[in-house]
This record gives sequence, structure tokens and C-alpha cells, in this order.
Amino acid sequence: MIVSSAFAGKTYAVLGLARSGLATVETLVTSGARVVAWDSQEAARDQVADKAEIGDPMEIDLAGFDGIVVSPGVPLNKHPITMRAAIAGVPIIGDIELFALARPTLPPHKVIGITGTNGKSTTTALIHHIVGQAGFPVRMGGNIGLPILGQEPLEPNLHGVGVYVLELSSYQIDLTQSLDCDVAVLLNITPDHLDRYNGFEGYVASKARLFAMQSAEHVAVIATEDEPSRTILQGLGNIVVPVASGDINPAGQCEWPALQGPHNAQNAAVAIAVARAIDISDDDIFPALASYASLPHRMQAVRELNGVLYVNDSKATNAASTAPALAAWPPVDGKARIHWIVGGLAKTDNLDECASQFGNVAHAYTIGEAGHMFADLLRPHMAVDDSEMLSAAVRRAARVAQPGDVVLLSPACASFDQFRDFEARGDAFVAAVAALE
Ligand code: ADP
Repeated sequence: MIVSSAFAGKTYAVLGLARSGLATVETLVTSGARVVAWDSQEAARDQVADKAEIGDPMEIDLAGFDGIVVSPGVPLNKHPITMRAAIAGVPIIGDIELFALARPTLPPHKVIGITGTNGKSTTTALIHHIVGQAGFPVRMGGNIGLPILGQEPLEPNLHGVGVYVLELSSYQIDLTQSLDCDVAVLLNITPDHLDRYNGFEGYVASKARLFAMQSAEHVAVIATEDEPSRTILQGLGNIVVPVASGDINPAGQCEWPALQGPHNAQNAAVAIAVARAIDISDDDIFPALASYASLPHRMQAVRELNGVLYVNDSKATNAASTAPALAAWPPVDGKARIHWIVGGLAKTDNLDECASQFGNVAHAYTIGEAGHMFADLLRPHMAVDDSEMLSAAVRRAARVAQPGDVVLLSPACASFDQFRDFEARGDAFVAAVAALE
């Protein structure tokens, strides 16, 4: 756990006591802060009752508090805490900001922060892997893995200082005021999460703040493949390294089994630039790209059966993240190979961002709430089976697919209509594939 003298004698409210909230309470209390904690669930409150005072920040007097720590899941644009905190003059922060405040008291280290609409987890895990393979002490946190405050601080070793690799959603950036990343990364920006922002500009501005927080000698690695990312790049005053998926030699990419497809070329280009920015040599970088193993639910090859490859890309929850998955298997001898399982809780009423890849799809199998709508939309372009249920889609695809084909779950939708989350959806796919004979 991270414990820091930066918090001694301070007073914080912690709102939301799931994993990162619990780790936050532990860090603050052990560091000598006064903590008033709250969660709407009584069972969650009971977990910290022996360490913290219990009180609802919507009701207690907030005067004199140093911060209100909230989870990134709290919609700040709608939640009444935003107004209450503003009136009391208390900043609303997240655990990443606490980490930033603790940094001056930690052993020498570097922080790499990664944001973007799509590819954050993959790129974070990839950079974590490269840095670790190069021998540096390394930890991964933020929007991925364990809460950063709950992890042991890094000590330098023979290879160099410790490196914290943080995946940062725009919500986490909104809750951070002083994270000066040694290397900050922007992968891409396409419309997403618009319910939480004042239009697309608000979402772009949130991402831009990660770079505005950097000091002049620190590095920004920016993929320049969309207009908003290029606009952010133009406004920066620190060291900027522009990258693009075209920087990757396709022959080289063939050697990296878990990094196939144009989107992974972007992720790899970014990861290479980051590794070079912290002086990791190409002799360490390229073998690590080859040995990287993909995260579950992201273009994860789960089985090969009768010459057909089954791929779980359940994490593709919008059309922009499905498009590159469809691009990863082009036709062979003029024959499309992808059996595409698509649908769930739609974020938009179209699949326009995937349209340029429709020629790669042999057959679509639509599922979930958006299933009928997508079936109607896709029928003019490809064979469609309105399967409704994921398990039915897998069974039907298995009957139709030929050797050399790919059955791909890349739903372009949220999962909450039929599943708890994208992981549960991916697990259901893996189970349905395992049941095939
Ligand atoms: P995030 O953490 O940003 O949601 P992930 O790495 O978990 O991103 O990938 C989410 C989905 O986006 C995956 O389905 C993957 O196929 C797709 N994807 C990954 N990298 C990119 C990228 N650079 N551009 C577009 N889509 C991507």
C-alpha cells in the first residue's frame, strides 16, 4: 500500500467504498489523515467503520476538508456533490490525484499515463510488459488492475527507477489536477461517453487536460490519426512525439501474435515511442512486442476447432473499436472469412464506422436489444442471422463457418441488456465455444 506523509493531518471525505474507495481509505488513514467515508450501501460502510468516521458528504459540513475523493463512476455533471463541493470550496478528486500528491514522498520513479477512446487497456498492458521485460520495476494501475494506492511503492533497481503505468479514462483525468506524467499518451478520440460531457468538445477537453498538466520537459506521445488528437497536439508546449499506425512495418507486426490488426499497429507504435522516451533500447522493445500476450476479451483467440478460429473481442463496446477487429481478417482468394457476432445495448443507431469493413464479413449474427435493428441494417450488405442470444449465435456460426474462417464476437455495443458487464459477455462466449464439438 502507498503511505505518504503528504496526507498527515489532512481531512478527506471518501464517497463510494468499492475497491478503489477502500484502498483510498486505507492509504489515507494509515498516512495519518482524518477520513469521513460514505457509501449508499450499509455493508460497504461497515467495512471501514473501524478506521474512518461514517458520514454522507451530501449532509455533513464540508468546511475545512482538503478534498472529496469520489469514484470515477460518479457522474460529476449530474451529481449534487459537485455543487455542494463548489459552495464549500473543496476540490473533488480521485485516487489518481492522491497518488499524484503522494509522488514527492515516493522513491524516485516515472509515471506513464495513457488515455484515448479505444486501446487504453491494451496499450497500458503492452507498455507494462515492455518495461518489465527491459528489467525495470513496474506497476500498472488506474483504470486497469488493482487500485494504485493499494499497491506497494516501487524501489529503483539496477536497471533504473520504478515505472508506474496508468490507464486513465477521461473520468479519472477529470478528478486529477496535478498529475505531471513523465510520458503522457493519447491514442485516439472518437465520440463516446457523451452522456457525461457537455458535447464532444467537453470530452475532448477532458482528454487534453492530461497534457496541460505536464511540465515542459515531459513527453507527450500522440497518435495523429484523428482530427481531435491532432488539434490537441498543436496546442502543446512540451516535448511532442507524433506517431501513427503507418509507422509499423506490416512484416514486423506479423511477428507479434497478440497485436494483429490496424488498431494494434497504433497501440504498438505508441508503446514503442513511450519505451524509447524512457530510454529502453529497441533490442528490448521488439522481443517484448513478440512475447506480449493479449488481455482477455480483447481480440483474444480462444479456440481453434475444425480449422475455424474463435475470437473474443467482447471489450469492443462501440463501433469504432469493432471496425479494426473486422479489418484484421481480410478476404482470402476473394472470399470473406469473418462470422461476426454483433449487438447488445446499442450506443448509436448505426454501424457506420464499421461500414468500410463490411466486405470482410461472410455472415453476421445479431444479438441483444440492438439485434433486430442491426439485422435490418446489415441485410443489404451480407448474410444475416438474427440469432438474439449469444449462445445461439455461436452454434449457428459454428455450423456455417468453413476451415480458415474466423468466428468473431465484436459486439460494437454495451453488454448491459443481457450481461453484467463485457467480461461476463466474453466469458459466456468462451463457454459457448468450449461447448462446441
Ligand atoms: P479501452 O481500455 O480503451 O477500452 P481496450 O484496449 O480494452 O481499450 O480495447 C477495447 C476495444 O477497442 C477492443 O475491442 C479492441 O479491439 C479495440 N481497440 C484496441 N485498440 C484500439 C485502437 N488503437 N483504436 C481503435 N480500437 C482499438
